[in-house]
Amino acid sequence: MNNTLTRKILAAVEEGFEEQIAFTEDLIRFPSLRCKEKPAQEFVHGALEKRGYAVSTFRVDEHKIKDHPGFSPVAVDYSETVNVVATHEPREAKGRSLILNGHMDVVPEGPHEMWEVSPPYEPKRVGDWLYGRGGGDMKAGIAANIFALDALRRIGFQPAAKVHIQSVVEEECTGNGALACLVEGYTADAAIIPEPEDEMLVRANCGVLWFEIHVAGHPVHVREAGTGANAIEASFRVIESLKKLTESWNAEKANYPYFADVEHPINFNVGKIEGGDWASTVAAWSKLSCRIAIYPGDDPKERAAAIESHLARDLAGDPFLGNRPPQVSWNGFFAKGYVLDEGTDAETALAQAHRNATSSDLKSFVTPGYLDARVFVIYAGMPCLVYGPITENIHGFDERVSLSSIKRVTGAIALFIADWCGIERIAEEGTSGY
Ligand code: ZN
Repeated sequence: MNNTLTRKILAAVEEGFEEQIAFTEDLIRFPSLRCKEKPAQEFVHGALEKRGYAVSTFRVDEHKIKDHPGFSPVAVDYSETVNVVATHEPREAKGRSLILNGHMDVVPEGPHEMWEVSPPYEPKRVGDWLYGRGGGDMKAGIAANIFALDALRRIGFQPAAKVHIQSVVEEECTGNGALACLVEGYTADAAIIPEPEDEMLVRANCGVLWFEIHVAGHPVHVREAGTGANAIEASFRVIESLKKLTESWNAEKANYPYFADVEHPINFNVGKIEGGDWASTVAAWSKLSCRIAIYPGDDPKERAAAIESHLARDLAGDPFLGNRPPQVSWNGFFAKGYVLDEGTDAETALAQAHRNATSSDLKSFVTPGYLDARVFVIYAGMPCLVYGPITENIHGFDERVSLSSIKRVTGAIALFIADWCGIERIAEEGTSGY
């Protein structure tokens, strides 16, 4: 691609940038929490349709995906859980096809009074930062995908290959949204996911397991507490046991390519705890909602079985839990990690686009969290480039994404599309090819 075209594309991104950020702010205003993504998805459907793409909104159908090896078990109602996929068809397919993917779901925002700059769903720009829940993770990315294509149009071009723009759900809990798109038949020669990755490319990531632990106690009046068994107190022993398991899994890191130098790849989290019924009754039950990572290449089933057998073994001598072992159930992520092969044509193209958009070399890194890229890499054999803007506090309070970084990333994506897919003049312009 020549320098003039590169400059024109980057200038076109600049020209559309105010509109792009206004669109990102519109997305942030939707509290698109799990199972509540539909209004935001309808909004995106409309925005894509307005641009002339063929747009399909479809429900994530548990029955269609449940036998797929990438499926994660669910305990929620999927009736309002919809994906949106827009398709660009070239007049003449000359280049390589592409999927531009992003997830619309956001994680719960926590107590609103702990958001200091602006309430979570009221976007606010302060200097170079755009605040709001889901702004960085990853509504800025969804917007970047759409506006990268808009930038090409602004100068009279469109991709000379098929492009799907996907806005999926369930990335933060199961990965079933991206999986449903794959099962629906959407594949391409490469995919990009502009997740908040500080303008770096994800080389490898962890898989994730979600599970609940149910601890049953024995309710009595507190005056006889010695004869009862407090499920809440017992839960702490379960947590300690799982922390020990976590450390033993971290000690295996040298066996996994790219992970030997990651400080603490396997993180365990108790994210939610419920239990008991009454201040003066010894707690009869407790439920822990947990998350743990696994290495790429690990089989979720084997790691899940290892958790259950570890708890049974480690707590066998516990005066209470030994007799009433905690019950484990699997209710979310049951997902593998992935490694992106080095040296693919897609990576080379992104490195070039990144250099042209940012004047710096593309770095890659390993991240210990879940990413939907595993669906494309593991189950479709596609190179999937997870690469997106600089952010802070994703999943925390005062989540924020860098505006200048969004612009650079959008520029890099637009340049990548032009190179990977090739470009053709849009029909209205009359002439063909570039
Ligand atoms: Zn994300």
